[in-house]
Amino acid sequence: MKKTAAMLTVAFGTFVLGGCGLSSYGKGISFAGQRQMTVTPKTEPAAASEITQELVEYPLEQITHIFFHTLIYDPARAFDGGEKEDDYNQVMTTVSEFKRIIEILYNKGYVMVSPHDLAAVNEDGTVSPGRILLPPGKTPFVLSQDDVSYYHYMDGDGFADKLVLDENGEVKCQYTEEDGSISLGDYDMVPLIDAFVKEHPDFAYHGHKGVLAMTGYNGVLGYRTDIAYKTGENLQDDQRKFLDEHPEFDYEEEVQRAKQVADAMKANGWEFASHTWGHRNASDSSLEDLMADNEKWEAYVAPVLGKTDMIIFAFGADIGDWQEYTLDNSKFAYYKSRGYNYYCNVDSSKYWVQVTDQYFRQGRRNLDGYRMYYNAEMLSDLFNVSEVWDDARPVPVAPMN
Ligand SMILES: [Zn+2]
Repeated sequence: MKKTAAMLTVAFGTFVLGGCGLSSYGKGISFAGQRQMTVTPKTEPAAASEITQELVEYPLEQITHIFFHTLIYDPARAFDGGEKEDDYNQVMTTVSEFKRIIEILYNKGYVMVSPHDLAAVNEDGTVSPGRILLPPGKTPFVLSQDDVSYYHYMDGDGFADKLVLDENGEVKCQYTEEDGSISLGDYDMVPLIDAFVKEHPDFAYHGHKGVLAMTGYNGVLGYRTDIAYKTGENLQDDQRKFLDEHPEFDYEEEVQRAKQVADAMKANGWEFASHTWGHRNASDSSLEDLMADNEKWEAYVAPVLGKTDMIIFAFGADIGDWQEYTLDNSKFAYYKSRGYNYYCNVDSSKYWVQVTDQYFRQGRRNLDGYRMYYNAEMLSDLFNVSEVWDDARPVPVAPMN
């Protein structure tokens, strides 16, 4: 038993050195240290080959991708009979459900990987399949979260207000209670995963955590960074209301704060994707509309979050069907020309992965109230809904129109 453990440690160490340069599996916290203490006995000439056999290449086409929306921190406020209750109940997940899901996945051997582990972009712009090497029994998955903007419409409904840096420079959620008191804590996915990985570094392959799919029209991460908040032009009612209620609002400072949080997140294993600037349906929109939309993402979101080569389609509305994209697809040709190499839609199957020499594409599964209530059997590879379900949810969950 002891020998196996030691060899496993070497195997991790070997991969750390030879693998992705970003950081070691587990950010080097546990494995890099152990590696130095491990000596392969000289009396075992076969040890070297045995060591490499300890890691197993996981089939890329079987890697699942799960996603969430902003988590509900206080179900009593989200499910208060208000007009958005049905929507929240369908497409959101509560903090308590999320915690249970992550605990179950970790105990089953799931490990977070990045789409950038699944495919690599070459210098000439072509794409090649990646290799995921894990100890036997581990299962890689991709985690993402959509619309982490803390949109105005969610105000007062039991969601965090924004992501902030605490006095230790850690990313936390700011939350406003009903009585107006403000606290910082782990009220949404990013700080919850950060805390979980701190305890379980081997949950994050190469230290990679998740991908946040970001729009721009209400700003990002709870900061009102869109240009409309600066110019005052084309404001929606809730944006105007926000500016009226915050006469002290300083646009440049807002952008600066958002950038600090985004930088801290990226340094800590998070990645950002475009979700289109305006939450556009890319299937239905014209090429011209998508171009204008992407120009806004590049102008007003990329300066805050950084440039990205990933697009996670809003509504899961893809720019093509299941067949491979070709450059005859003018929407694909446009996005590719703007540097997008990773594309995600929504697909209810267990896994759906497509890699060509031009792009990587993956289906994502929603782990929300609707799926858990109506299609528990579709999630049974991941968890039993009965072990996860938050009884604070009203039932039945409303059917989709
Ligand atoms: Zn969305």
